[in-house]
Amino acid sequence: MGYKLSNTGFNEYIQQLKERYRLFAPVLESKKGKFAQTDVIAYGEIEKFDDMILESKSYYSPKEIFFPIRETLFYFMKDTIETPKINEKPVIIFIRPCDLNGIRRLDSIFLKNGEEVDFYYLRRRELVKFIMIECLEGFDTCFCVSMNSNIALDYDAVIRVEENVVSLKVVDDKLEAPVLSNTDKVEFEPEFIKENKVKVTIPNVDLVSKETFNNDIWKEYTSRCIACGRCNTSCITCSCYTMQDVKLSDDKSIGERRRVWAGCHVDGFSDMAGGHNFRDKNGERMRYKTMHKVNDFYKRFDEHMCVGCGRCDDVCPEYISFSKCINKLNEIVEEGKNYD
Ligand code: SF4
Ligand code: SF4
Repeated sequence: MGYKLSNTGFNEYIQQLKERYRLFAPVLESKKGKFAQTDVIAYGEIEKFDDMILESKSYYSPKEIFFPIRETLFYFMKDTIETPKINEKPVIIFIRPCDLNGIRRLDSIFLKNGEEVDFYYLRRRELVKFIMIECLEGFDTCFCVSMNSNIALDYDAVIRVEENVVSLKVVDDKLEAPVLSNTDKVEFEPEFIKENKVKVTIPNVDLVSKETFNNDIWKEYTSRCIACGRCNTSCITCSCYTMQDVKLSDDKSIGERRRVWAGCHVDGFSDMAGGHNFRDKNGERMRYKTMHKVNDFYKRFDEHMCVGCGRCDDVCPEYISFSKCINKLNEIVEEGKNYD
């Protein structure tokens, strides 16, 4: 069912949802930007419609709402372990189509990658519903159309925000609210962006060879990438983590086990027993990430991991463009070009 609401009416809808849900959307984080005294747009809990920032892309993705940067998996006390409780109030995330597709990638990794599901991911993920934000223009670095991620249909509700009017379609009955019964009903179907300024061509995965790995293209990234890991933390589909055991007392049998986000660009990610590191050079790490995003994941899940949100291009302090990297990869795979 579709509805047409004024901004005030939509805010009332938000207030009624808040009685049952925690609502997250892109918000302005004051003075938390990458330079001193600058702001950043990131996902945060909203109190009202005005808190939502829709005219810019969020610097970070919504993944940390249900895949926290740092999460205690369990406490251990000598012979017993205890799993911490979580806030079980259901969650609604306002989200763009590319990110909604990105979450399907996370679901594949945590829930469909082998026989066991990730208990910690699942218990938070099950609490989440999505209200999709119609996205017709995109932003300068987006390439979602090339990645087939401009269209998403697995939303629980969807909104179109225009000046003074919000169109709303509710798919999941749980997202109906009393204010809607007094609201004009309309037919509303979301539309999707058809073309981005940035376009990429992904090479045929069957043509990627050992020569692709040895191509000089990767050397450029060894000299340019500073291994800061920003591209990993901002990416909706990066899901790697590391484990930490933390002592909580002088008795080392009392403590907690945490998982903490890790990034394949960052020093230490590939360290192995005996001091070995198979991806010492930053270009090798770029190669690893690129191949995972537009080659290896596809072979396992029949869709590319990257959804073309463009955040990695936005956040890189060295102006390394992942979309350009994909196009260069295509040139060496499809056209036999060698970079030097
Ligand atoms: S690799 Fe870059 S463009 Fe692709 S999903 Fe991650 S952040 Fe977005
Ligand atoms: S954000 Fe840029 S410099 Fe930082 S790790 Fe990623 S590619 Fe390298």
